[in-house]
Amino acid sequence: MTFHIQSASLMQLKHKISLIENPQDILFCLFKHYNDRAAIVTSGQLSGMVQIHLAAESQLPFRVCTIDTLRLFPETYKFFDQVEDRYGIEIERIQPDPNDIDNMVSEHGEYLFFDSRTKQQFCCDVRKVRPMRKLLESLDVWITGTRRDQSESRQKFQKIEVVSSETHPILKVSPLIDWSTEEVWSYVKKHDIPVNPLFQPDANGHYFDSLGCMTCTTRIRPGEAKRAGRWRWQNATDTEADTKECGLHYSI
Ligand code: SF4
Repeated sequence: MTFHIQSASLMQLKHKISLIENPQDILFCLFKHYNDRAAIVTSGQLSGMVQIHLAAESQLPFRVCTIDTLRLFPETYKFFDQVEDRYGIEIERIQPDPNDIDNMVSEHGEYLFFDSRTKQQFCCDVRKVRPMRKLLESLDVWITGTRRDQSESRQKFQKIEVVSSETHPILKVSPLIDWSTEEVWSYVKKHDIPVNPLFQPDANGHYFDSLGCMTCTTRIRPGEAKRAGRWRWQNATDTEADTKECGLHYSI
C-alpha cells in the first residue's frame, strides 16, 4: 500500500526538524518515523558520504539511492560498490527510461549537450530529473547533501523545504547545509569515511570538487569556483549564477 505523508504531518515534521541542529539527530528522526519513505539521495560526493556514515552509526535501517545517468565515471561505479561493502547497504540505482534515451539520441545525437545550453538541460532532464521524479514517487522525505558553500546560487538553499512530486508533497532536507568544505573533509578524515578517488588531486594539483557525468565534468584548478568543472565549455559564454545546475534542485 502506498502511504503519502499528509500535509499537516509534513508541516509538523518540518517544524520538528527545523529545531534539530545535529545532522545525525535529524537523520535518526527522519528514518525512525519514515523508514523507507525517507532516503539519502547521493551521487557519492563527500556530503552524501558523511550522511551515510552518520546514518549507519545511528543503528537504524536507512535507504540510500543514486541517480545513475549511465554516464558516470567508472571510478564512481566502483566506489559505490566499495561503499556498499563498507556499510553493508545496497545503494539503489535509479536509471533513465531506455525509450527516453533512445528517442533523445536518435533525434539529437549522443553528445547533444555540446550543442547548446537548451540541449544540455534536455539531456539532464532525461537522464537525471525524470529518474529523480520517478524516485520521489516512493518518498516522503528526500535527504540531500547540498551545502550553501558549493556555489553562489546554492547560498539561498534552505535546510528544509517542501517540494512537490507529481502526486504529493515531499520534505526535502539538507542536514549539512551549513557545513563548509573544510568541515566536511575534516569529518571524512577523522572517521576514515570512503572517498571517491577522483577527489584526490592529480599530478598537476587539479581535482574534482563536484562530480557528475564523465562527459560533462572536469577537474578544477586551485582557486576556481567549485562547480567550474561542470559543463566547462559553457564557462566563457554563460554568466548566469544558476547555470552550473542540472535541474535536480531547481525544477523539482
Ligand atoms: S551532465 Fe551531461 S551527460 Fe549527464 S545528464 Fe547532464 S548533459 Fe547529460
